[in-house]
Amino acid sequence: RQLTKHYIAPRRWLAKARPPIQAVDGVSFDVARGETLSLVGESGCGKTTTAKSVLRLVQPTSGSVKLDGGELLTLSAEQMRQQRRHVQIIFQDPYASLNPRLSAGEAVGEPLRNFGVHSAAERRERVEWLFSKVGLRAEAASKYPHEFSGGQRQRLGIARALALNPKLIVCDEPVSALDVSVQAQVVNLLMDLQNEFGIAYLFVAHDLAVVRHISHRVAVMYLGHIVEVGDRDTLFSAPRHPYTEILLSAVPVPNPRKKVKRILLQGDPPSPANPPSGCRFHTRCPLAQAVCRESKPPLTPREGEGHFVACHFR
Ligand code: SF4
Repeated sequence: RQLTKHYIAPRRWLAKARPPIQAVDGVSFDVARGETLSLVGESGCGKTTTAKSVLRLVQPTSGSVKLDGGELLTLSAEQMRQQRRHVQIIFQDPYASLNPRLSAGEAVGEPLRNFGVHSAAERRERVEWLFSKVGLRAEAASKYPHEFSGGQRQRLGIARALALNPKLIVCDEPVSALDVSVQAQVVNLLMDLQNEFGIAYLFVAHDLAVVRHISHRVAVMYLGHIVEVGDRDTLFSAPRHPYTEILLSAVPVPNPRKKVKRILLQGDPPSPANPPSGCRFHTRCPLAQAVCRESKPPLTPREGEGHFVACHFR
């Protein structure tokens, strides 16, 4: 609730004080058990900072993050470490997130050892089970990360995230570094695991075709704010916010003969250190009026359950 992250450059880096960079500014959302909520938007819109704030890999400036009703942001480092068994992350670059000195079996078994599975036999058995769940053969446990393909490494990252039976997995661009053919396999694997274990995903991605495939709900971010959130089908078939409309018009369609109205987004995103007044999208919005410069539109419900839009005119 009201999650905010402002980055302030240390004074010693700067000749004179600069305004804080408002990476995330008052973002609120829920993710239910067994649900995938995707965060989408241009680079720099705050989606990754939001996702990492949930795990406190980035410490939010203010706001609240609750897991099953329990506040995470006020926990001590040790208390937060204990909660990490419930909230895991899968990174974009699986190679960078795996220790090259650990075998695949050791890497996947490491969280188990850290959380009290001290018997090597018990860990081995659990690692074998995890490997089978992510489509890797048990013999792969003795190999090292550089011996795996990109897709296999991401399967290892998923097995590691799954090891402690988490309630929520933050997926930070988990397939964007993979070949297209492998992307589909990994996305389908994530969906199968969700069906089997009821895991919730907070899914960060810029590929809207992937988002459309995996999400139950989608939240669209622009310059640190959520501007629209709703269920996937409503949002993709009838986007309300002008920014969502422009963003979705860029999604390629499989049939090249199908005429699609593309809307070009004008200009560059404004600096998050000096965001526009009122509606942050007004400097690029084709529908902007005087009121948009003066007053910030709140995220308010529209017809259809769970559909919210932040726009004065939509
Ligand atoms: Fe565009 Fe105004 Fe709506 Fe913002 S509030 S999206 S500027 S029409």
